[in-house]
Amino acid sequence: MEIIIIFFIAHWYLSLFSQSFLQHRYASHRTFTMNKFWERFFYIFAYITQGSSYLSSRAYGILHRMHHAYADTDKDPHSPKHFKNVFSMMWHTKLVYADIYDNRVQSEERFTKNLPDWPSMDKWGQSIPDRVMFACLYTGVYVLFAPYWWLYALIPIHIFMGPVHGAIINYYAHKYGHISFKVNNTSRNFMPVDILMLGENYHNNHHKYPSSADFGIKWYEVDPIYCVMRVFDFLGMIKIRNKGKRVVSEF
Ligand SMILES: [Zn+2]
Ligand SMILES: [Zn+2]
Repeated sequence: MEIIIIFFIAHWYLSLFSQSFLQHRYASHRTFTMNKFWERFFYIFAYITQGSSYLSSRAYGILHRMHHAYADTDKDPHSPKHFKNVFSMMWHTKLVYADIYDNRVQSEERFTKNLPDWPSMDKWGQSIPDRVMFACLYTGVYVLFAPYWWLYALIPIHIFMGPVHGAIINYYAHKYGHISFKVNNTSRNFMPVDILMLGENYHNNHHKYPSSADFGIKWYEVDPIYCVMRVFDFLGMIKIRNKGKRVVSEF
């Protein structure tokens, strides 16, 4: 039982870390810079930790910049205002993401500039054989270590870990929670102290200051990923831009 609990928690937080750190704070918002070596290192880290739900940082960046620019309007790729439930919103998001990834839509230059890109990694990481391989790996861990059959119900969460994290922020943090700043969209701070989403839940703060490295604003709003970024910055692995400043969106 312990192995399953450790596996679930480790997968939850490591894949969440890589999505927030690489695809969200680095690719989409450029809250820090890093050299090619560390960029490739964190791409590989994202590939391993995101596994079957690995996403292209480039396509993610374009989609996410559109969300900030058009939040809750008709052009927002995922506004809960326009969907009956979380599943229809996530399905629509998947279709828009695929159109962007396959270059079937023309994106504005402000959404495509300064994005990292590793096409061969994205191609393999999003291929059917790779996704199936990771799904088998997760299932294998449960077959070997799960003491009760009902624990198998957790396997779909492993397989769709990225979309699950996306749904919490893009659906629930646009519906429930506390409003610290009046912004022209429905974003909210979903938790007062964000231990579940490592800082991403301060979503109303983030819509107010999208290019700030630190998503927490009130003294108790600790942003765990920002704490890790400060350590990486201290070690010289990354360079945080606009340290200690509140920065509105650059895009
Ligand atoms: Zn949002
Ligand atoms: Zn953002």
